[in-house]
Amino acid sequence: MLRRYAPVMRHDRGPVLALDLGATQIRTAVVGADGRVLARAGRRTPVNVGPAPLIEACIAELRRAAAAVAPEVGRSLVGLGLAAPGPVDPTTGILVEPPNFGPGFRDVPFRDPIAAALGLPAALERDTNVAALAELEFGAARGARDFLYVTISTGIGGSIVIGGRIYGGPDGVAGELGHIPVDFDGPPCGCGGRGHIEALCSGSGIARLATEAARAGRSPALAARLAARAPGPLEGRDVGEAADTGDQEAAAIMERARRAFAAFIVGLVDVFAPELIVVGGSLAEAQGDRLLGPAREAITRTAFRIPRERVQIVPAALGDDVGLVGAVPLLALAGRSPLDDRSP
Ligand SMILES: [Zn+2]
Repeated sequence: MLRRYAPVMRHDRGPVLALDLGATQIRTAVVGADGRVLARAGRRTPVNVGPAPLIEACIAELRRAAAAVAPEVGRSLVGLGLAAPGPVDPTTGILVEPPNFGPGFRDVPFRDPIAAALGLPAALERDTNVAALAELEFGAARGARDFLYVTISTGIGGSIVIGGRIYGGPDGVAGELGHIPVDFDGPPCGCGGRGHIEALCSGSGIARLATEAARAGRSPALAARLAARAPGPLEGRDVGEAADTGDQEAAAIMERARRAFAAFIVGLVDVFAPELIVVGGSLAEAQGDRLLGPAREAITRTAFRIPRERVQIVPAALGDDVGLVGAVPLLALAGRSPLDDRSP
């Protein structure tokens, strides 16, 4: 089913308070109805402290952002938009099982305690869904109704937008596009699966393959970078840089990543026949057309005719602020009655 939000509320358009909770950073902002960031705050995410201190930290950073705008703007805030790593339950406002925050994070009520502390109506969504709404309202997907959003950085995330609404499925968790298998004999994925696009084309997946190559003695350049990072692991950008300076093993890993991404995108085009696929995230940004170009060529060569003639593969437009400015359309959707579902 297409996502309906609770609590249902209506409001006039106005500035919103936004939170983007990530594994490394808590970012907060006051965002105008036009998508401009009016003030921001944030800090490193406290990990392994349990849910209550993490929620307290989120509340404190939201208060700092709200205190940084003029008093009349602070008084006109219409709501609170919360983006968090999936899976989340947008109906109950619960963090279902977020990775990376340490033990104790299972079915954690998140939206309601923050809404109560701030005294504002609130909506919670998975970060990738908030990003998709941001691109729809203010970025690369303006004017689209049926599109997919893919983000490629440490991991690969996604969002399915149908008729201008997030498709969440019966449990609200649909759209984990990063775990589509593209190579059933491929490397293990962080989720426990095998050959998923995230295992082959994400920063963490590329780094894992490069670490294996370095340890196996197949690439002196990657081994040198691994030694320089010690005790830390390689990063995805190490591999891209080593490839750019002529290391054949690194180049082969990046080439495989591009081919896997192309196969993934062709599959999405054939299944969803979307108007648009918006590709964001730091790794996609760094690779640019070196990643998107082969995907476009593969679509032209192999995708079904009707979708391939229409679909466009475009870079995301909003960069790092995507999880914050998406709070504006998130609250606007949350404020729409389910009866509005069929209206354009
Ligand atoms: Zn996976």
